[in-house]
Amino acid sequence: MAASDRTTLVRDTGQGTPLWAPARSRDDASSPAVPHQEVAGRQSADVVIVGAGLTGLATAQRLVDASPGRDIVVVDAGVPGAGASGRGTGLLGPRVGPAIERLRLRFGDSTAVRMHQASVEAVRRVIGLVERLGIDCELRPGEQFVVARSVRAAATLRARGQAYRELGLDVSERSAAEIRQLVDVPNQGGLAYPTAATLNPSAVVWGLAQSLAASGVRRYDNSPVVMLDQEGGLPVLRFPAGSVRTRTVVFAVNGYSDRLRLGVGAVLPIEVHALATAALPESTRRTLGWNHGAAVLDAEPLAPYFRLTGDGRLVLGGGDAIYPVGLSSSQLLARRTKVWDWLERRLHNLHPDLIDVPVEHRWAGRIGLTLDGLPVVGRVAGRQDVWFVGGCCGHGLAMSVFNAQAVADAVLGGSLPQLPWFRERAPWLPPGPPIRLLLRRYVAALNRRARQETERAERRNAEGRPRAHQGRNPADRAARSRPEVL
Ligand SMILES: Cc1cc2nc3c(=O)[nH]c(=O)nc-3n(C[C@H](O)[C@H](O)[C@H](O)COP(=O)(O)OP(=O)(O)OC[C@H]3O[C@@H](n4cnc5c(N)ncnc54)[C@H](O)[C@@H]3O)c2cc1C
Repeated sequence: MAASDRTTLVRDTGQGTPLWAPARSRDDASSPAVPHQEVAGRQSADVVIVGAGLTGLATAQRLVDASPGRDIVVVDAGVPGAGASGRGTGLLGPRVGPAIERLRLRFGDSTAVRMHQASVEAVRRVIGLVERLGIDCELRPGEQFVVARSVRAAATLRARGQAYRELGLDVSERSAAEIRQLVDVPNQGGLAYPTAATLNPSAVVWGLAQSLAASGVRRYDNSPVVMLDQEGGLPVLRFPAGSVRTRTVVFAVNGYSDRLRLGVGAVLPIEVHALATAALPESTRRTLGWNHGAAVLDAEPLAPYFRLTGDGRLVLGGGDAIYPVGLSSSQLLARRTKVWDWLERRLHNLHPDLIDVPVEHRWAGRIGLTLDGLPVVGRVAGRQDVWFVGGCCGHGLAMSVFNAQAVADAVLGGSLPQLPWFRERAPWLPPGPPIRLLLRRYVAALNRRARQETERAERRNAEGRPRAHQGRNPADRAARSRPEVL
């Protein structure tokens, strides 16, 4: 890893501040604001976990629970939650990889069923973990709705609903009116996933970090691994100011794994975005009918999705994804600002009562995307003592914990589940500028499609809105000035 990369990883201030950035109390030694020391000199440990996101911390927690005496070290290039885990939007829900109808085609019915069931189990495990450790993370159970905003998306979701029905899985179709009764937002019907919740993802990270500290797990912050080496047949991790020799390494670096060249296939770094409003006035919450932990996602990937926090803020995610490799910090910041501005307009167009709601937080974070949409969890290059867990493709709040627990069990001598993402490598891409260009174009095409679909749905919705409300939103003006082309 080049020195400049390290600086970007640790201090990318242009990524904005998440709503849940830890409180900055320097008096409290357990406060997230006080980083632990860096790795210095020659150290050793039984197990080293690289990456203090949900995956790394949940791996350590499982090891501690199952094998209390082990000497475990967790290292991070920044602080816990510096990656995606501290910057998520907190929608805890099932689903892994591509849509169920594609999983059926690719893996057959029985594997598709087991994959979905594993993702439901993943949600339950997160809930079980935070309850057992007593982590106060504003956990609010509530269905996840995936809604259609266009006729085409409605047809896709109907077919998907049928696939779930045929497979006997607990996902039900809901009409537009049924969804509007729970959350009054424009939609053309959708699917309801019952095992789901919303929570504060950063609080989960810090709850785990504190639990591990109490169990004697050593943590080093601001300690980027620069190289995986070997000494006397054992893995050695090299850091800028020291090294750690160990028996087992678990890499949980997700969207940052390309820098380490581990040979686990392509886990592409992709930036995604979010924003949070001020607390909505009580009257607006009443109008929206929202007082629970339900979350609404769009059937169109990258289109805006949203949820309400316990204190009544709307958290909205989505918008253009950015492939950051090769972009300077100022280019990145300019692109992020455009995405945030676009998302803010979508928020204001969502409902007439939201038009004046101020946005108080804007942030971005880096996820790890594989080319087939499935995580990659397994041994690194066939080695017995080095593991990799990552590539949840932006849906890792539940799956990170499931995958982490599976690897911890395997480290302790168990076997990995027989599921398609437990594998040594994800599909691979040759490195180099031509591929980078192709990727950039591919991501741009996805972004364009999501933007067009969202704006088109907004115009259609504005046309159908009662006259008293028309003209208040920017989308209404666009609807009047532009003919709809479906
Ligand atoms: C804006 C946004 C919204 C999201 N919303 C949701 C959501 O609503 N629901 C959902 O399910 N998922 C969501 N996600 C995805 C979810 O947050 C991730 O899938 C999950 O947090 C991944 O956890 P992780 O521990 O694998 O990775 P990360 O949290 O990224 O952790 C990786 C860690 O590795 C460290 N690291 C990297 N390189 C090195 C190195 N060389 N040496 C040492 N340490 C290193 C990093 O500093 C980082 O702390 C969202 C993500 C973002 C960014």
